[in-house]
Amino acid sequence: MAGQGITILGATGSVGESTLNVLAAHPHRYQVVALTANRNFSRLAEQCSQHQARYAVISDATQATDLQTALNQLGCKSEVLAGREALSEVVSMDETDVVMAAIVGAAGLEPTLHAVQAGKRLLLANKESMVIAGELFRKAATEHGTTIIPVDSEHNALFQVLPKDFESGLENVGVERLILTASGGPFLHKARHTLADITPDEACNHPNWDMGRKISVDSATLMNKGLEVIEARWLFNARPDQIEVIIHPQSIVHSMVAYRDGSVLAQMGLPDMRTPIAYALAWPQRINAGVEALDLTKQPKLEFYPPDLESFPCLGFAFEVLKAGGSAAVVFNAANEIAVDAFLKERIGFLQIPSVVSAALDRCETGKIENLDEVLEFDRLARDASNRIIHSHIGS
Ligand code: NAD
Ligand code: MG
Repeated sequence: MAGQGITILGATGSVGESTLNVLAAHPHRYQVVALTANRNFSRLAEQCSQHQARYAVISDATQATDLQTALNQLGCKSEVLAGREALSEVVSMDETDVVMAAIVGAAGLEPTLHAVQAGKRLLLANKESMVIAGELFRKAATEHGTTIIPVDSEHNALFQVLPKDFESGLENVGVERLILTASGGPFLHKARHTLADITPDEACNHPNWDMGRKISVDSATLMNKGLEVIEARWLFNARPDQIEVIIHPQSIVHSMVAYRDGSVLAQMGLPDMRTPIAYALAWPQRINAGVEALDLTKQPKLEFYPPDLESFPCLGFAFEVLKAGGSAAVVFNAANEIAVDAFLKERIGFLQIPSVVSAALDRCETGKIENLDEVLEFDRLARDASNRIIHSHIGS
């Protein structure tokens, strides 16, 4: 096979599309093994045809026949695989060397963890997996000698400016703090009481980034930054007091590392996911990402503020969740997924998202996590509890 074999989980999403965009500019570096989608069979068929994927994988098996028909119409020979197990099957195949994990939410956990267990290089966009099962990922990566390269722009920035041996402990390499930047989303500087009637489209209208709807809402509530704090804890073996968040509305500085001697190293670039994706694809080399060069003389002033935890409480919850440890992060994530889904379907208001998360954290029992089944069970219980909270206390 020419080039490295890549499988993209969640190929039809925003990160998946950007990944294929970068791959198209470097056809000899990679051979597409499998592309996966949840239900969007028509886009998946187009992608498989354009990138000559060996396998077209649809999670929702009821769409398999339509996918086959769409592939036939395009004269594309990709083999159709269907169902959730097929995701884990394609990441573990011999032909797959690299896996881009770009499914949204906890739905990505199983195949993403299986990729690490199969020793494949993992390019991680699916932050929710790392948030809910960070310890399992760390153990599996050590046991199977797997490299995990963060794709989330902040973590990719940190990965770029940390010393190579950061795994030996941040203190051992002179690092004092990881500084995650946050754009503040579309409602930065808005008073909390003005946010009650925000519509899903307003929440998804991010000023700097073009992303899927779930992460766009997470950015508007600052839940995204809360998830990223927990993601950083696991990716970089950081203590909670070593992680700081600052608001930087222009999204040019993607994150920074503060060292013991007073140096602060930042990674900068235009807000375009193709940069972290290209970095992750080519690491330790660099390839062209198709992104315009950053000209700081043409940029607006770069600003930095402390976050407003009163208007955006989800960020504060994340630090409490880290202190609690164990399955608290599973509850935090599951409650948010349920609440965001309800908000996008206009069943609850924008300000009720943090209320659901907070109520679920209060009500759900938490405990230690030893394996994948336990994560999935805590996740199921937290989703049930969050749905009950929405029905009984908030109304629908
Ligand atoms: P998206 O909604 O645009 O795409 C999600 C993809 O996952 C689609 O291909 C969809 O078919 C698939 N999918 C959804 N539900 C699934 C299920 N139940 N089973 C199997 N597949 C399923 O999402 P996105 O914005 O591309 O985000 C993907 C991940 O990357 C998220 O975890 C997000 O937090 C992270 N991320 C995204 C961006 C961004 O710019 N979009 C930036 C940083 C991190
Ligand atoms: Mg991010």
